[in-house]
Amino acid sequence: MTKTIDQFFCDWYSQVFPHAHGLGDPYALPALKKLIGFCAPGSVDRSAIADALGLETSESMTHALAGARIFVGAPPRLSPMGRALRKYLQTRSIESLLIAAQPHLRTRMVWCWPHICHCAVDGYEPGRACPNPFYHPANAVEYLRHG
Ligand SMILES: [Zn+2]
Repeated sequence: MTKTIDQFFCDWYSQVFPHAHGLGDPYALPALKKLIGFCAPGSVDRSAIADALGLETSESMTHALAGARIFVGAPPRLSPMGRALRKYLQTRSIESLLIAAQPHLRTRMVWCWPHICHCAVDGYEPGRACPNPFYHPANAVEYLRHG
C-alpha cells in the first residue's frame, strides 16, 4: 500500500501533535501553517512567529517541531524534513489540511512511524524505514526534488 503525501502528513501530524488530533485541529493546523510561513530554508524568524502566534503558542510549537527534527541547530533553521513540510503546507489550504488530518476516520489506513512502517507493498515489513518525507532526510530531499 503506497500512501499519498496527505496520508504521510497525517501520520506525521498525528505524532507531533497527538492531542490536537480532532477538536484541536482547527486551531493547531492554522498555527502550524502560519508558523512555517515565517520559515525560510536558512532561517526561522522566531520574532515574527511570536508576533503572529503569541509567545506561548510559538514557543510550544517551536519546541514540538524541534523534537520532530523539523528545526535543527541554534538558532533554529529548517531541516530537510522542515523544508519538505514547508513545501507541503504552502500547497494546501486550511480546509484541505483539516481533511488530510482525518483520513483515519474515513478509511482503514494504518499508521506509520519513522521506524515502524506499514505502507510497504504487503503492509508491515520488519526493519523498513517509512518513506514519509517528513520523517527522514533522504525522503525529504526526494520530495523536494520531485514532489
Ligand atoms: Zn510507511
